[in-house]
Amino acid sequence: MPRDPRYDPLFEPIDIGPVTAPNRFYQVPHCTGMGWLRPRMVAEMRGVKAEGGWGVVCTEYNSIHPTSDDLPHPSASLWDQSDIAAHRLMTDKVHEYGALAGAELWYGGARSANLLTRDVPMDIASMPHMSGNPFQTRAMDKTDIRNLRRWHLDAALRARDAGFDIVYVYATHTYLLSNFLNPKINQRSDEYGGSLKNRIRLVRELIEETKEAVGDRCAVAVRFAADEEIGEDGVPIHGERRDMLGLLAELPDLWDINIANYALEMGVARFTAEAALEPYMDYVKSVTSKPVVTVGRFTSPDTMVSQIKRGITDLIGAARPSIADPFLPRKINEGLQDDIRECIGCNVCYSGDSIGVPIRCTQNPTMGEEWRRGWHPEHMPDKASDSSVLIVGGGPTGLEAARALGQRGYKVMLAETGTELGGRVTREAALPGLSTYARVRDYRVQQLVQMSNVEIFYDSPLGAQDVIDVGADHVALATGATWLTQRWTGQFAEDVAPPDASLLTPDDIMAGRMPDGPTLVYDEDGYYLGGVIAEAVRATGVPVTLATPSDVVSEWAGNTSERWRVRTRLQKLGIALELAQELSWFDGQAAKLSCSYSGAEKSLPFEHVVMVTHRAPNDALWHDLLAMADGDVDALPFTLQRIGDCEAPTIIAAAVYSGHRYARELEAEPHLLHDRVDVRQTPDGVHLMPFGQ
Ligand code: ADP
Ligand code: SF4
Repeated sequence: MPRDPRYDPLFEPIDIGPVTAPNRFYQVPHCTGMGWLRPRMVAEMRGVKAEGGWGVVCTEYNSIHPTSDDLPHPSASLWDQSDIAAHRLMTDKVHEYGALAGAELWYGGARSANLLTRDVPMDIASMPHMSGNPFQTRAMDKTDIRNLRRWHLDAALRARDAGFDIVYVYATHTYLLSNFLNPKINQRSDEYGGSLKNRIRLVRELIEETKEAVGDRCAVAVRFAADEEIGEDGVPIHGERRDMLGLLAELPDLWDINIANYALEMGVARFTAEAALEPYMDYVKSVTSKPVVTVGRFTSPDTMVSQIKRGITDLIGAARPSIADPFLPRKINEGLQDDIRECIGCNVCYSGDSIGVPIRCTQNPTMGEEWRRGWHPEHMPDKASDSSVLIVGGGPTGLEAARALGQRGYKVMLAETGTELGGRVTREAALPGLSTYARVRDYRVQQLVQMSNVEIFYDSPLGAQDVIDVGADHVALATGATWLTQRWTGQFAEDVAPPDASLLTPDDIMAGRMPDGPTLVYDEDGYYLGGVIAEAVRATGVPVTLATPSDVVSEWAGNTSERWRVRTRLQKLGIALELAQELSWFDGQAAKLSCSYSGAEKSLPFEHVVMVTHRAPNDALWHDLLAMADGDVDALPFTLQRIGDCEAPTIIAAAVYSGHRYARELEAEPHLLHDRVDVRQTPDGVHLMPFGQ
């Protein structure tokens, strides 16, 4: 299909210093949880983005020296010659598709604890570690600053030699350089502190020295925060940022603009809308004549064009939209914008870096698997036979399995009990702030309805005999899971109330069975749902308390950068918090809570308790089918598999992945995967691939 001419501005080339970006789609630096540990996985993943039409594809944060080491968060590195060879894998892939490759040079300062290298971290002053490690930094003296400049320059040269076209000076996100700029943090009395001119000195020197070293061949970009800090209710406080940018305005070849607060800049959709940075950076283009890129979880081409036409930015920066759909630019270019797999803003991608494991994505199950499994986001292997497949259950697992099998060309029947598709994502999307979760369903349904080889049967609760009567060659059960009213003691599930007490689960709340009096939400799950359920109940006007055995609210959501905002939100809504408290009994009028540490008990009055604890797989159909074959799955007239939450209740990203993997591996050799360092299955087995081989 031809491109909609409205989107032409997105496809105009633009000069960035000595290089030219072929279009306005710019994958800004983003972490992958792979970094220098897994160069092949990174290279293939970035290459797929270039193939998908991103005009610029950048690395993640790239350490310039062993005194800036972020493990267990895997950064990239430019420490020595071996890094050049590793990065070459990426730049070659990116160049193959005519895109530019960018390298973000990074020095962590008080945010890198150097747990691997055990070098002493350095920053602007002797200060406590900024990410909670029990270390202080050494205050940098003049020699340290001179060394830093040399390391930066050497890293820039290595980046050039590795084939990068854009080299960054990274002066934001509370890493070292932003501390020099910050008037509150920078209390130095030498020529690098005090006046604005002094505080920008180091950044200026680095820009000039990088240009001097590599500027004939590479563009020099600066990543810079448009605001000083976020005021009440997200109102920007620009402080002296406009003046600061003014003093540096024409030095680099590109400004990559974001904001000081990471959690807001890459906020989850629950708290941060598309294009949310606009109020922070609306002055930027009036201060510099150089091209500007910024982010905003852009997935709508209309919003993108509007940003460019209104002079907010020149290039559309994206991390998450490029993760959810590496082919987003190509789809717009080919008039296929309805096929874009839109990011849902859940930040599961970010959790990989937080935990120190390769990236994964809720919407894009192939993310991070491009090299080690050879999965491509847009291509599937052709079907291996004319077999038919029955998928039971139309939640995220079943939808993805049906979509991917349909793409392979199989005859697919998707049976769903209800009158609508989506399962848990449809239910969760109706909760406060989670409407984007419906995109998991919408993308897949949009694809499925175009496939003549896929039939969808609504209102079809299948029993074991029904499944047999369908006569499919393969059957996958994607029947999901059900929240339980019991608590998990750490060893076994335990009842916490008599049968007549009002004990509810998230399934009740999502089905509209709302409590009508004071309610305790008991969150043992520890991810987003407990907080969201508390908010949903609170919205009906009843008093709500959230209790959790954890010391913090929504503990796992720290990995997706949202737990701090969740707690702020709950407190603003007047939801009381009971932390490090275990629910031992609820008699219908009062809940007995005991301290997770001392065991000290207290009794609080509630009329209802919502248990957000754990789930039971909906696997009755599995057991019924097995029973019909005397427990021997191979005796059934079809292959039978459980997938997604029906196999093991999990997060949506893992459910989608499970459906995708089933579809990939049906009638194909399963991929063995030993996920240590860069590992790949080859026809003669699985090989560890130490770099350099
Ligand atoms: P998952 O996350 O694994 O996709 P969900 O709970 O979101 O799981 O979705 C499971 C879907 O399966 C629900 O829409 C449910 O209505 C459907 N389902 C469950 N049991 C059956 C069945 N026996 N026949 C048809 N559909 C079923
Ligand atoms: Fe978007 Fe979630 Fe995928 Fe990250 S994991 S790219 S936030 S859909």
